[in-house]
Amino acid sequence: MEKKQKEKLGNVIREKIKVQKKNMISYKELIKPIPPDNAIGRLTRMEAISNKSINEAALDEAKHTLSRLERALKMTDDPDFGLCRVCEEMIPFARLMIMPESDLCVQCAEKLTG
Ligand SMILES: [Zn+2]
Repeated sequence: MEKKQKEKLGNVIREKIKVQKKNMISYKELIKPIPPDNAIGRLTRMEAISNKSINEAALDEAKHTLSRLERALKMTDDPDFGLCRVCEEMIPFARLMIMPESDLCVQCAEKLTG
């Protein structure tokens, strides 16, 4: 991969890391314990509990993506960066720009996820 492309990707990854961190802060805010007896009605409280589990899942997902992005950022200097970990073909640059945390090409990703 060309140096310029690596620089571009590095910027995309850093931007995505920022977004994930921001998202994590808002998810953490949303999953704060719900007070057992406050002004909100019973239904609203049930809604709040169900939203809480959705937000907990979203937080987990964000954490996972963040660690993959951080790994990808470290990898941009690696000569193997951008190679599919299964078939070792170069992952198309356009795909890396959208999903820089990806370490599989489209074909292998499809095979693995079915
Ligand atoms: Zn592949």
